[in-house]
Amino acid sequence: MNFVLSPRGAWRPALFALGLLAATAFAETAPVAAPTAILIRNARVFDGLGDALTDGLSVLVVGDKIAKISKDPIVPPEGAVVIDAQGRTLTPGFIDVHMHASAFLPGSISDHASPWQMGVYMAKSLEGFLQRGFTTVRDAGGADGSIADLIDKGYIAGPRLFPSGPALSQTGGHGDNRAPYSAHPYFGRSQELAMSRGLSWLVDGPDEVLRAARENLKNGATQIKILASGGVLSQFDPLHTVQFTPEEIRAAVAAASNWGTYVMAHAYNVKSVRQLLDNGVLQIMHGHLLDEDTIKLAAEKGAVIEFELVWQWSDEVHGKANGLSDVNLAKLHQIKAGMAGYLANLKKYHVLTGFGTDLVGNQEFQNKEFTLRAEYFPPAEVLRQATSQGYAIISLCGPLNKYGKFGTIEEGNQADILLINGDPLKDISILEKPETTLALIMKDGKIFKNLTGRVQ
Ligand SMILES: [Zn+2]
Repeated sequence: MNFVLSPRGAWRPALFALGLLAATAFAETAPVAAPTAILIRNARVFDGLGDALTDGLSVLVVGDKIAKISKDPIVPPEGAVVIDAQGRTLTPGFIDVHMHASAFLPGSISDHASPWQMGVYMAKSLEGFLQRGFTTVRDAGGADGSIADLIDKGYIAGPRLFPSGPALSQTGGHGDNRAPYSAHPYFGRSQELAMSRGLSWLVDGPDEVLRAARENLKNGATQIKILASGGVLSQFDPLHTVQFTPEEIRAAVAAASNWGTYVMAHAYNVKSVRQLLDNGVLQIMHGHLLDEDTIKLAAEKGAVIEFELVWQWSDEVHGKANGLSDVNLAKLHQIKAGMAGYLANLKKYHVLTGFGTDLVGNQEFQNKEFTLRAEYFPPAEVLRQATSQGYAIISLCGPLNKYGKFGTIEEGNQADILLINGDPLKDISILEKPETTLALIMKDGKIFKNLTGRVQ
């Protein structure tokens, strides 16, 4: 990952820029005047849990919730909008459990963006996620609660956002994105705690880990992200490196659990993942170099192992153009070599994975993840990963989830609903063209796109 450096406080003008963008973009992207009720008739429903579609269902949305699902005709309430789905597939809105709202451009470009540009780009990036069908995302390093707040208030048309704030990295770790041989932010030019307000803090020792984690929680993080092994897109840390000590990991876990939430950790190799599992971290991001015994151990502990395929594809195809070095590409190939066996073990031990993409730049390829996964998992499983599993993972933040239940089509849930032209259980690659495939996008009962042409 190529972290975007910006000094502490630089986000204030960026947020102002977001406000400016909202003022101009609102007319196009804001939900149509929210009706009190929307009735969708004649839909084939994938509920987020099952294996098949159920034909001929009606779904009534009242306010922001799914009020009723029925095979029998539902009489629309007075003044309701009625949409004839004409047999289209209705699914829950998709959930991406690993994305970075502030990493929308190849690093070499975003390194030079002004905070004003960053804010505007981020708003556009978030709108892109929503228009690809993602009504909920978990930011794995970057955005803080201020961005979630702007979305919740309707200034940005974006998915429901569960931010982590800047990820915690040790000196020389996956989040240490300084230029070669440059000064340390504490010992050199700056007294700031932050390595970067954009994507990572640089912290060493349990005290600094505690302070950074608490700062993130204060700023609206719903979980804490730590970087606990080498990574592909950093320059100085080989994939075999173990990052953070047990004491540092336990400090992050203590800070998170005091707020009723959890720690998610970037880690690839066996040694770092075992150290995480031994010290209270039960959400592993990537884990692509794990052996069978470690995956079995993770499964026994009820851990989540979240993986992604699309960034590997993107880096292979576009990495050179995006400025990836030979060091980065060598690490990419090290990971790709073992993917088939790794995924077979995740399946064998029924590990909860969710659906993550982790694209740093080229986010327009996000939905290719559906197609790439279908080489290893049945389409219904991929859709469960992107809906009900995503909710199961994200809702582990307990009391910090202020949005209720989502990710499945069930009465009482938040009304996050997609209408899809075609049957993704037969051909999931249709989701790669959301501009034509997604006929309706609804979040919290508000319509953000409607191509059905059947509104009465
Ligand atoms: Zn990431």
